[in-house]
Amino acid sequence: MSAHINIALRGEKVLNMRAHAVDDPSDPMIKQLAKDMLIAMKTHGGVGIAAPQIRVSKRLLIIHSQPNERYPQAPDMDPLIMVNPEIISFSECFDSMWEGCLSLPGLRGLVPRQTGVSVRYNDLSGKEAEVCLQGFPARIFQHEFDHLEGILFPLRVTECSDIYSESEYKRRVLGS
Ligand SMILES: [Zn+2]
Repeated sequence: MSAHINIALRGEKVLNMRAHAVDDPSDPMIKQLAKDMLIAMKTHGGVGIAAPQIRVSKRLLIIHSQPNERYPQAPDMDPLIMVNPEIISFSECFDSMWEGCLSLPGLRGLVPRQTGVSVRYNDLSGKEAEVCLQGFPARIFQHEFDHLEGILFPLRVTECSDIYSESEYKRRVLGS
C-alpha cells in the first residue's frame, strides 16, 4: 500500500464504528499505518486524518495543521501522531468554524467546538505523552477524535442549514 491509498467515504460502515484500541503502539505495523495515513492526508490536502478514514478501525489519528489550498489560514506545525488518545479536559469556551472532511468531499459545515483540549496519548515508541492544544489544532483533534468514535461533522452542526456545498462555501463565506 502507498501510492493508491484512497479515503473511505461517508456511508462506509468503518466511518460509523467506534475504532478499536491499539494493543501495542510500538508495533511496526502501527508505524506503517501512520505512514500510510500521512501519505493519504497529504495527497488529499487534509490537515488531519484518522485511521478509519483509510478503512482501519484503530485508535490512531494525526494532526498536521499547515496552510494549504483547503485551509489557507491554518497555522504551521509538525505532524502530531497520537495512538489511543484520551481527552483529559476541555476549555470552557466554544467557537464555530467551517470544517471540511476528506470523507465528505465537496461539503463544509459550521461546527461549534471547544477552543482548547488536553490530551493523553501514546507515541509510536509506545511512550505516554500529554499535550494541550489550542485553536485550530484543538479543532482538528476534536474532528479526528470524533472519527474514532464513529462521528462525522454533520452530527456536530447546530442547524442543517449550516452545511454548504464547497462551491457555496467559497461563494458565500469566502466571497470568491
Ligand atoms: Zn474528517
